[in-house]
Amino acid sequence: MIGSSSKNLNRQLVGSDLLTVIPGVGPKLAEKLAALGLNCLEDCLWYFPHTYEDRSRITPIGGLLSGQRALIYGKIIDIKLVHRPKPRLNVFLQDASGICILTFFHYTKQYLARFQVGEWWSCFGSPYIKKNIWQMAHPESTKRVAGEAFPLPETLFPVYPTTAGVSQAILQNVISYAVKHLSPQLLEALPPEMAVSFSYTTSDAIQWIHKPSLEVPMSQLFERRHPAFIRLITEELLAHQLAAQQKKQQLQREAAIPCPSDTPLHADFLNNLAFQLTAAQKRVWQEIANDLKLETPMVRLLQGDVGSGKTVIAALTLFSAIQAGKQAALMVPTEVLALQHYHCFKGWAEPLGIQVRFLGGLQTARDRKAVLSEIAHNEAQLIIGTHALFQDKVQFNALACVVIDEQHRFGVEQRWALLEKSRNQGCVPHQLIMTATPIPRTLSMAFYGEMDVSIIDEVPPGRQPITTSLLSDTKRISVIDKLKEWSADGRQSYWICPLIEESEQLNCRSAEKTWSELRARLPVLRIGLIHGRLSAEEKQQVMHDFHAHLYDVLVATTVIEVGIDVPNASLIVIDNPERLGLAQLHQLRGRVGRGQDASHCLLIYPAGLSQQASMRLKILKDSQDGFWIAEKDFELRGPGEWLGTKQSGLASYKIANLQKDAKLFDKIHGIALASEVLWDYKTLIERWLANKQRYHQV
Ligand code: ADP
Ligand code: MG
Repeated sequence: MIGSSSKNLNRQLVGSDLLTVIPGVGPKLAEKLAALGLNCLEDCLWYFPHTYEDRSRITPIGGLLSGQRALIYGKIIDIKLVHRPKPRLNVFLQDASGICILTFFHYTKQYLARFQVGEWWSCFGSPYIKKNIWQMAHPESTKRVAGEAFPLPETLFPVYPTTAGVSQAILQNVISYAVKHLSPQLLEALPPEMAVSFSYTTSDAIQWIHKPSLEVPMSQLFERRHPAFIRLITEELLAHQLAAQQKKQQLQREAAIPCPSDTPLHADFLNNLAFQLTAAQKRVWQEIANDLKLETPMVRLLQGDVGSGKTVIAALTLFSAIQAGKQAALMVPTEVLALQHYHCFKGWAEPLGIQVRFLGGLQTARDRKAVLSEIAHNEAQLIIGTHALFQDKVQFNALACVVIDEQHRFGVEQRWALLEKSRNQGCVPHQLIMTATPIPRTLSMAFYGEMDVSIIDEVPPGRQPITTSLLSDTKRISVIDKLKEWSADGRQSYWICPLIEESEQLNCRSAEKTWSELRARLPVLRIGLIHGRLSAEEKQQVMHDFHAHLYDVLVATTVIEVGIDVPNASLIVIDNPERLGLAQLHQLRGRVGRGQDASHCLLIYPAGLSQQASMRLKILKDSQDGFWIAEKDFELRGPGEWLGTKQSGLASYKIANLQKDAKLFDKIHGIALASEVLWDYKTLIERWLANKQRYHQV
């Protein structure tokens, strides 16, 4: 049991002590705690409650409120084993105001012996009413001495995130032990002139956050306005910002190969294009060109909504490295997109005498070997591929520039891995990271703090808005019939289905079934099918044929979500849009509206759509502005949902919340930028970013 004093140490505890120094914590429990990220004493200080409960008052059973967790105290008047509908143990607890049944499912023999009629118990749990009587399922219960007052907590009760096998009581004991012994040792990590502006020191704040006093209004807790919260949130945000800044400075100390941006090759390329760059494209190209000519690596994020024309900017950037006599790589998240880019870049680059190669996961072993050898000998100048690019076997000869398209699909670590492996003779490649996923401002500051940002805020001229309609699936047949008229005028369309095959569990329309259905109903139309299970060659063939207008309609899964560019396609139908995130839907919708024709997006939803889901779809219907949609989705669902789980860095905030603390973000950004080297922030950064892969050496 925790509390035994068998482990008295004759020295002061330190943060790096293992949890087994805590009385009552053996190796087994320590292992379970490690699964929560608690490895040493110090970790416990920064493991914060996700909510608090007031367990300081006893609520009369007669005064319980349904669903509102409460502490009750009374005498056991009866115990019953019930076998139907489910076996359970019912313990009847009575106080002066009423009776509450404590229900235990999956009870064991020990449980049976635990309770005796006539005993006094206090129980904490969530009450509900069944058949007119109060009940609590599996309350936390403690036996009391009849008639004797028992001590009630003098602070709010912290509730920690936990996993099976570690109870709140154990966590509390472990954490309060660490807080008690370590918090007095915490150093001031902020410069004195900043520290004085806080009414709480880190140490006070840590003690408070783990045991807030009962007097604090709950609203201050939940709105995170208490000075202890402000102190810790500020520290954490600042630590992240400074770490990003340091990373940037670290990069600036690296060497890179200067690449020219104003060469005859660039001029030829631009002259051969069927269009003029937009003003926004010219501006961002200038920003990039200024970076490329430096002897330090560029790390630039290029944001531009779907269809804003990022690909030509990528081309200009990559050509610069080749003009410097080096290699350039373009990395994209899907094979289909890699192949499209490959063909597009071949068309652009080969007339200019540049050797373009493709590297993908589904390539034949022979092709792959040949390409790898060309890469290693600088015979391949421009390499386009998927994440296959940063696998061990790929050895670049002289990589001077990397462009990553649709960055949100990659993890942060993958990006650094590519950078690390392409370090070459002391040089790091320039990096351009492109994303069509509009990222809410706070998120991009938190996440891309170490990058410079360029934005294409204009779409090429002559684009028509995309009309988005929400249709119930009772209208499906009439939509199918519409495809015929649409195609008769020489226009093409996509039909998107979230899954490949029909699945029992998910009542989704599958691509294969839809394909058969459309072919049966529209025999005169040429209908293609593409999904992730096709081989690279098959995918390439289908996309090629769709580009060449050998198909009128392309039935597809979300494999075509990012980057695909067929300007003649001007209608997109999306089945089960409620299963996709707003960012994803916005991306998919961006497959149309790329040419001169007016475009349409039809979202076909099933019966029984939840209110939340229909609200989300309406956001999409009402706007075509990716940034606005992103902000709304962020408000509705939070950052994790928007970015997907891959961007795991976000989950690493211990106390700051990107949504709730958005205002503080701006302020701290300013502080971080103004921070001078006069103060060493090492303690602060180590405190908040310990164990962060992300900030390991570039
Ligand atoms: P995204 O930013 O989504 O990657 P793309 O680079 O695929 O956009 O460009 C979308 C379409 O717009 C392509 O067909 C491309 O050729 C075309 N495009 C790009 N820039 C211009 C421009 N300045 N004027 C006209 N069309 C352009
Ligand atoms: Mg693109």
